[in-house]
Amino acid sequence: MLGAADEAPPTDEEGFRAYARELRNPDFATIIDEGAPSGPIRRTRAIGNRWHRYDRMRRWPARLIALGDSICIFNPVYVQGMTVAALQGALLTRHAERGDLDKLGPAFQRGAATIVGIPWRVSTSV
Ligand SMILES: Cc1cc2nc3c(=O)[nH]c(=O)nc-3n(C[C@H](O)[C@H](O)[C@H](O)COP(=O)(O)OP(=O)(O)OC[C@H]3O[C@@H](n4cnc5c(N)ncnc54)[C@H](O)[C@@H]3O)c2cc1C
Repeated sequence: MLGAADEAPPTDEEGFRAYARELRNPDFATIIDEGAPSGPIRRTRAIGNRWHRYDRMRRWPARLIALGDSICIFNPVYVQGMTVAALQGALLTRHAERGDLDKLGPAFQRGAATIVGIPWRVSTSV
């Protein structure tokens, strides 16, 4: 759950559940109430965007792969990180199936950056 301005979901369990019950869609509170916590509730204020341009490096090891958040972290408000990581995973599979692992690294980083492009513009231009 997220808040805006000075409002933030409480990090104690009772307050967190109460906050969920205030949402217009009751399903969130139901799901939270029916589940068991897997750990303490944590709050993050990390809403920055950060893109490492590995695709622009003049030299990159042939068999080194960076993908997902290790390339680009998006403001979680735009809920894009898992989709980008999954698309990059699918791209990696296609590259690996083609076989030549000694050329994989730089080519993959260029393709992975292409996947980042549109979500990056969404996250940084709104
Ligand atoms: C608060 C929040 C809410 C988000 N909500 C959404 C959302 O609604 N939708 C969405 O699409 N995205 C969301 N994201 C983004 C999404 O979680 C990430 O983009 C996605 O998980 C990135 O996947 P990843 O595999 O690159 O990294 P991760 O999911 O972080 O996986 C990296 C894994 O590597 C492990 N690891 C780290 N160091 C080591 C090591 N030295 N040795 C072995 N293992 C190690 C970590 O424990 C972790 O399991 C959210 C992010 C945050 C912070």
